[in-house]
Amino acid sequence: METVTILGAGIAGLAVSYYTGHDRCVIYEADSHYGGHVYSEEWDGIVWDDGPHVSYTKNEYIQELFAELVDGEFEEVEADVVNYYQGHWIDHPAQSNLYQIPEPLRSACLKSFLESRVAEPEAQAPPANYQEWLYRAFGKVFADTFPAAYTRKYWTTEPANLGTDWIGRRVFYPKVEDVTGGFRGPLGRSTYWVNRWRYPSRGGFYTYTHKLAERARIRYGKKLVYVHFGERLLGFEDGTRATYERLVSTIPLPEFIACAADAPDDVREAASLLRATRLLLVRVAAQHPSVRKEPWLYVYDEDKLSTRVSIQENFSPHNAPAGMTGMSVEVCGSAFKPLPTDHDAVARQVVRELIEMGLLEGWDAVQGVSVRYCPWGQVIYDHNRKPALDRIKEYLDELGVLRAGRYSQWGYLMTHDCVLRGRKVAEHLRDRKVEIPEFEIAE
Ligand SMILES: Cc1cc2nc3c(=O)[nH]c(=O)nc-3n(C[C@H](O)[C@H](O)[C@H](O)COP(=O)(O)OP(=O)(O)OC[C@H]3O[C@@H](n4cnc5c(N)ncnc54)[C@H](O)[C@@H]3O)c2cc1C
Repeated sequence: METVTILGAGIAGLAVSYYTGHDRCVIYEADSHYGGHVYSEEWDGIVWDDGPHVSYTKNEYIQELFAELVDGEFEEVEADVVNYYQGHWIDHPAQSNLYQIPEPLRSACLKSFLESRVAEPEAQAPPANYQEWLYRAFGKVFADTFPAAYTRKYWTTEPANLGTDWIGRRVFYPKVEDVTGGFRGPLGRSTYWVNRWRYPSRGGFYTYTHKLAERARIRYGKKLVYVHFGERLLGFEDGTRATYERLVSTIPLPEFIACAADAPDDVREAASLLRATRLLLVRVAAQHPSVRKEPWLYVYDEDKLSTRVSIQENFSPHNAPAGMTGMSVEVCGSAFKPLPTDHDAVARQVVRELIEMGLLEGWDAVQGVSVRYCPWGQVIYDHNRKPALDRIKEYLDELGVLRAGRYSQWGYLMTHDCVLRGRKVAEHLRDRKVEIPEFEIAE
């Protein structure tokens, strides 16, 4: 069997190599370590992930595998998330907890929700975009105040610019009784689509990758800058070159196609239309215990840069020394909404916001602040995504180039999806009759 060349040593690339057999693969990785987005680093005594990471899949195979990868040492907790809105804390999802929203907004949300449910869903054409979906799901008042505002912050564009093919069960579509009951008081049951999640006890989410990477043949510092499919040739930033027999890419699709010397113009054009968010992760270490018990929270106020705040020691108590808290705040940008360039100013503003939200006791409590730039965040499901992706996929399929992972398949993939895809790619490499289905958002 031929040697398999893999681009990228994130969890998808590691999974392809692990299932194919490390001795049959070589991985070229731009960075100086494996893990990609699953990398965690220690700083100021705190373990920081690349934004909040938990494993919530119900897939039993993955649950067992992930448990084995950390020798059974993981935390398993009830999924618990909260929302911040103009000084109020509202349990997640807010649409089932209207009782925590201040009046008169609370009653206006209920009234517009009930008006939105007069028409039978079957009698309506499918929603043309996410904004229409939101209005039907929640009514205009709640939709405009909460998810539409959050969409502009997190997805960095208007809801009308997004399709509905990424939603799945991620945004809770409530029944009338969920909203009316949650208007009167606590429902007494969670309507969050995730029930429980797992997280390694020590070392951060990164610990899930160590056993996958054992004995993998990874060449570090090999950033791909050139590929010629006709000649089966790869070129790297350090000036070196390599040929390949079978190629699997896990690197971001726009970057991959931009490197391709012999890609036709329409494929290049399609790749240039793909959009993703980029992140500034502002990490604030403070000398007091965390104020909230939830691992993360969503911030709806549009005058705040802070979009989602993760509290590292609420994932595992081993993530921070006793009496300390580590807050990682996502600030989101994209080609639609450029990120601020002055990182010191961003850090100062985020600290001020944490103090205002009551999550940080004051400037004196701050032990350290850092800002990490993350060039790839979420794939944006705008209206260009599908036709552009279909064209690129058709082209790469004809060449026999395989793709695995979030940014190569260009979808809302989680770590379990990446591992399962890696396993499927390995089966296909062993037996070409095994088909690799395109990713569909499910659980
Ligand atoms: C903020 C955030 C929160 C998330 N939360 C969760 C969660 O709670 N649970 C969950 O399961 N998943 C979560 N995810 C998704 C998860 O992180 C990804 O699905 C997964 O890590 C993607 O792995 P990958 O291998 O496909 O890509 P990556 O991790 O991006 O790996 C790609 C690798 O390719 C390398 N590379 C890039 N360009 C080149 C190049 N030109 N040449 C060579 N190498 C290159 C990179 O350095 C990297 O190592 C989250 C993601 C984000 C951004």
